[in-house]
Amino acid sequence: MTYLNSHPDAKGFFGPYGGADLPPVLVDQFAAIEKAYLTLSRSADFINELRYIRKHFQGRPTPVSFLGNLSADCGGAQIYAKREDLNHTGAHKLNHCMAEALLAKHMGKTKVMAETGAGQHGVALATAAAYFGLECEIHMGEIDIAKEAPNVTRMKLLGAEVVPVGFGGRSLKEAVDSCFQSYVAQAEHALFAIGSVVGPHPFPMMVRDFQHVVGIEAREQFLDMTGRLPDMVAACVGGGSNAMGMFAGFIDDDGVALYGVEPLGTSSDMGDHAATITFGEDGDIHGFKTMVLKDKDGNPAPVHTVASGLDYPGVGPEHAYLHRTGRANYVAADDREALDAFYRLSRREGIIPALESAHAVAFALREAPKNPGKTILLNLSGRGDKDIDYVTETYGFDAGD
Ligand SMILES: *Cc1c(COP(=O)(O)O)cnc(C)c1O
Repeated sequence: MTYLNSHPDAKGFFGPYGGADLPPVLVDQFAAIEKAYLTLSRSADFINELRYIRKHFQGRPTPVSFLGNLSADCGGAQIYAKREDLNHTGAHKLNHCMAEALLAKHMGKTKVMAETGAGQHGVALATAAAYFGLECEIHMGEIDIAKEAPNVTRMKLLGAEVVPVGFGGRSLKEAVDSCFQSYVAQAEHALFAIGSVVGPHPFPMMVRDFQHVVGIEAREQFLDMTGRLPDMVAACVGGGSNAMGMFAGFIDDDGVALYGVEPLGTSSDMGDHAATITFGEDGDIHGFKTMVLKDKDGNPAPVHTVASGLDYPGVGPEHAYLHRTGRANYVAADDREALDAFYRLSRREGIIPALESAHAVAFALREAPKNPGKTILLNLSGRGDKDIDYVTETYGFDAGD
């Protein structure tokens, strides 16, 4: 049996991690989502419709690019990038949003809903909702709405209703609570489209399966280009969806080392980073078991990273499991390394990466000089247009300015 067929188990567990700790009102809804997914993911209609969308709407397959200039600069391993920045809307998130919206449509739902922090998941879901003619409700903290105006404009243009959340810290955590409350009241006709490989079962499994296309394509493309498999595969880890999609393509290839790159922020002190596997411990968050960064009282710790898409004090349960089994390695890159990688990829390769993806680039730049004769394939999860104003206003136009 392949790894993917046997993980998670029937209850949604990856070893001790995962599962679904749900309020009673949602138990039936989540069971219905799981049942629909297990049926549809084996139906030719669903698979063909998703294939058509991947090709004719999203623009897949995205290419793998050889980063020849950076490889030469490093003088060691050859570095390649899977170009999810070229997926429609500029990141990997649309891979699972299109599939979640298609699932909602097949289940007879009329609405998709979610919370969003920086607005990336909100924009991807609003795009999917527009495509399928579904209503879309996005909950967003008032602080984030003020900070991320272009994404709020995008969501509204795409026809989504953006619900401002004005209580507590008015940010992502409150947006989750607000969306959850609203969802409980409309679960009959709405699907809560979770934005990463997190949340209660079946979401970590479904979102991984929907992102698997990244790893399937990348494996085939890399073989085509080089005649062999990569020695190392790397991806940044926030909740872990772009990494899990990439890892899934190589998980049964024992010779391929897998690396998840967590954000080390400004230091290893609590509150200065979001490196959950590097510094966290076992715990519960948002209805599932995983590794969690905790404060002194055992509550989710405050987190920081220059890449807001990696800002989460938990991690997908499958990553906690792959860390425990040793199949994947988890390392960290700090804000400075990510910024340096952001500038170097822009200047040397003509690709401006998302700050999230820059963490994976930073890992490759760090490892390449130590690994002559080897190959590194990184997942460039998204493009950096959203980050250019912040980066240049804060740090100027050159690394080291
Ligand atoms: C949201 C986001 C991430 C982090 O999400 P994962 O679920 O960890 O993949 C990474 N890169 C980009 C470009 C994103 O928008």
